[in-house]
Amino acid sequence: MLFSEVIDQQTAKEKLLLMAQQQRIPHAMLFREPEGCGGLPLALAWATYVLCEHPSKTDACGECANCRKMAQLMHPDVHFSFPVVPRKPGSEPVSDDYLAEWREFVGVFPYGDMQDWLLQIHAENRQGNITAAECREIVRKLSLKSFEGGFKILILWLPEYLGQQGNRLLKMIEEPPENTLLIFISQQPQRILGTIASRLQTIPLVPLAPEAITQALITRANASPQLAAQIGLAANGSYRQALRLLHDTHTNWQENLRNWLNAIARQQVNTLVKWIEETGSSKTGREQQKFFLQYFLNLVEKALQAHYVPAEQMHLPDSEREFVDRLSKLLSFNQLTTLSDQLNQAIYYIERNANARLVFHALTLHLRDMLISPVDTR
Ligand SMILES: [Zn+2]
Repeated sequence: MLFSEVIDQQTAKEKLLLMAQQQRIPHAMLFREPEGCGGLPLALAWATYVLCEHPSKTDACGECANCRKMAQLMHPDVHFSFPVVPRKPGSEPVSDDYLAEWREFVGVFPYGDMQDWLLQIHAENRQGNITAAECREIVRKLSLKSFEGGFKILILWLPEYLGQQGNRLLKMIEEPPENTLLIFISQQPQRILGTIASRLQTIPLVPLAPEAITQALITRANASPQLAAQIGLAANGSYRQALRLLHDTHTNWQENLRNWLNAIARQQVNTLVKWIEETGSSKTGREQQKFFLQYFLNLVEKALQAHYVPAEQMHLPDSEREFVDRLSKLLSFNQLTTLSDQLNQAIYYIERNANARLVFHALTLHLRDMLISPVDTR
């Protein structure tokens, strides 16, 4: 993995490159990410950069022996630790037991999370963790000499799954063997043992921008620009969520949104009843209902911004920009704020298994009040 293959995260990349340039590489780091934002890809790119024989100022070369070994996750000085489950009841597993599955997982789904990983190793209903045996293994591996004479690197994915046994790593984190780098990647940093977390230098990752997600879906996942734009706005900054939506989405949500608003504005009661029936049905599913509401919410927020930022500066695809433009003219600032609250609330209810038809019905009534009553001029 190269920096150029990691979606966005420009600030974190620059921070890392500066550390390398100034030769001030911390020996124990925590990559902290909101789920699905690229913590593991960034850690892999960072390890590749550090080991590369001919790095440029911005990226590893991708061609030297070290880069090639890293690309296959087969570098002898790079060790991986991640949560696992026992192969046999009662046995204490180590991460290396699952190395083949891990390489495959990282290859196809580097933005995945714990749930995806447990699926990959057919352990869906079990609780994975990083075991005491794995901690002993880490200490043993890192006390060996480096094979290639450079850094020895540990990439530990999800330290939140290290229980008290994680304290076995403390000494190594405090007084690491020479030329050792420890890279932790966490999606729930508040759950990491305090003794460990306080000894790590944090690199924060941020939710991905909608346009970065849209671009990645088009170039990496072959999505149509139209669908990619909708998902970019609905994925909450997570590329993992975006891929899931891409897989599950068979409805053109923008068209659906337009139909809804048109039917409300024209007071077409029969059309509305049918719309609520279909959109709120269990066949549509909660994930898609949430997607739709999130997409609409993002457009409403863009329409709010349009009151002080010109729409053309918003990096929106043409069809969405036109929609945002209309929305910002149709509804006052106050109405848009209220609508944003209502959509947030609707998402909250859908997440908690409320009756989706009732949720969409209530939203329809709110929208009717806004769209066909005199414009609020406050
Ligand atoms: Zn290289």
